[in-house]
Order: sequence, then structure tokens, then C-alpha cells
Amino acid sequence: MQHKLPQITGRFAPTPSGPLHFGSLVSAVASYCHVRSNGGQWLLRIEDVDTPRVVKGASEHILHTLQAFGFEWDGPVIYQSRRFPLYEEILQHLISQKYLYRCSCSRKQLNKQNLELGPLGRIYPGSCRNLNLRNPTLSLRLNVESAGTVDFIDAHYGNVELNLPDQVGDVVLKRVDGVYAYHLAVVIDDHEQRVNQIVRGSDLLKVSTLHHYLYRLLAYPVPEYLHIPVVNSASGEKLSKQTGAKGLVIDKASIQLADAAHYLGQEIPRQLTSARPYEILQYMIQHWNPLKIPAAN
Ligand code: GLU
Repeated sequence: MQHKLPQITGRFAPTPSGPLHFGSLVSAVASYCHVRSNGGQWLLRIEDVDTPRVVKGASEHILHTLQAFGFEWDGPVIYQSRRFPLYEEILQHLISQKYLYRCSCSRKQLNKQNLELGPLGRIYPGSCRNLNLRNPTLSLRLNVESAGTVDFIDAHYGNVELNLPDQVGDVVLKRVDGVYAYHLAVVIDDHEQRVNQIVRGSDLLKVSTLHHYLYRLLAYPVPEYLHIPVVNSASGEKLSKQTGAKGLVIDKASIQLADAAHYLGQEIPRQLTSARPYEILQYMIQHWNPLKIPAAN
């Protein structure tokens, strides 16, 4: 009997906190070419889980920009802000398994404590872990005490590992203001959408260990990961809306796509830089070689 191979599914998952910038374009191009060159589908998910950070009109702007840059996504666009009941259901499951606990530490209190800085930020010392707090309005933390070292192989960076109790600490999965953490939403959504190929910026490389731990607790199959070196600003910081990255310019789509290709180590014939964005993307898909992505920039 012949077994059908599962469909390869990738995605692009922008946060609508502003317009797409060159760094986002590089992630979009890489995830698009990587999945399309293997005949897979490419989903689009708007990560508006952190509603206070959402900028009005940014989602529409992102969709419009992606279209103008020649991207074609499969199926309907998914919005995290419409999936809170699903996140709550999984959260309740994690609570029932005693993987989470309620925490009353405010950010202000923690800031005063001079906590050790780990690769993912300040390491929460577990002060509320054994207090058995019951107030349902408190935040919820994931207990990583018994997680040990979590590792995985990234298709670009190779082995990645972090000792969660020592280097990360218990992270918040639902904030006191009711907002679900990105870590929770991204793991649930990728699983629910059957995403089995995750391509994104290397700023999320290390945090993927935490996601792997959630995959383990939820008994989800783990996707394949390819992280690409993040695009830095002239001052060496990650290019982001916060570091003043300029939005993409639709009139310059072809040139900016060619720049993204170049950044990813992919060659584009010079005459193609004046072609339509769609054609540049098709060329990139046909000639996509992830081994040419530079080690770092
Ligand atoms: N929403 C995240 C961002 O815009 C990307 C998350 C992901 O690809 O997992 O940076």
C-alpha cells in the first residue's frame, strides 16, 4: 500500500503593529519560496493576539502590500484575535494538567528585583510557583521546572538548545490584562493549521526551544524549522518598526524583491529586476536554494 506524503504547509505570520518593512519582506520571501519550491501551500496569519499593540488599519495595509508584491496565499487569512476561545480551551487543558500556575508578581515588582538576564530576557525566579494562588484574574505562568534542556535542529543554524529552568524560567502564557502570549498562540495556530514548515527570522530562533516544550506538553508533532538571519539596521539593531524601519514601497516592489533575493543569497538576473513582482517571485521559487542563505549578516 502506498502512503501519501503529508502536504507541506508553510506560513507567514506578521504582527499588525505597523506596515511591513524590508525585514518582514525577507521573511515573507523566504517562507514563500521555501514552501512553494516544494509544491506546498503558504498560509497567511495575522498575529493580532496582543490587541493593545495592534495599529488600526495595519492588517489591511499588510494584505494589500503582500498582494502588490506578487504573493498569493492559500485559503482564508486567519486572525488570532478571532481565536481566543481556542487559546482559552488549550490553556484550561494545560491548567488541568498542572503545567501552569497563577502568578501575582507585577512587572514593577520584578523590575526591582534585578533578575538574571537570560538569552530570552529576565529569568523569573519562580516566586509564585508553589503558592497555589487561585484568583482567576492573575496571570498564568508555564512551569518549566522539569523541562530540562530542550533542543532541536534548525535547517540553517543546526543544533539549538536551551536549558529552560536555568536559562529561561517560567514564562507568562496569559497576562494579567487577559492577553494570551505569542508563544501560546503561535504553537496552537501552527498546529491547528497543520503548518509543518516554519520559516522566520532568527530573532525567534532561541525562543523556538520554548515552543518545542509546548509541543511536547500538548503532544503535537513538531514542524521543521528554518530561521533566517535577521536584517539589521545601520546601527546593528534588528530592523523593526521600533528601530524606525521604513515601510515597503509598492512602486519599488520589484527592486525591493530583488534586494530581498540578494539578501537571501539568491541570484536574480539583472534584467529581471524590472519585471513584475509576481514574475520575480516565480523565478525565485524555481531557483530557490536555501543552502545559499548567508550564515549571518
Ligand atoms: N508575528 C511574528 C512577527 O511578526 C512572527 C512570528 C512567527 O513567524 O512565528 O515577528
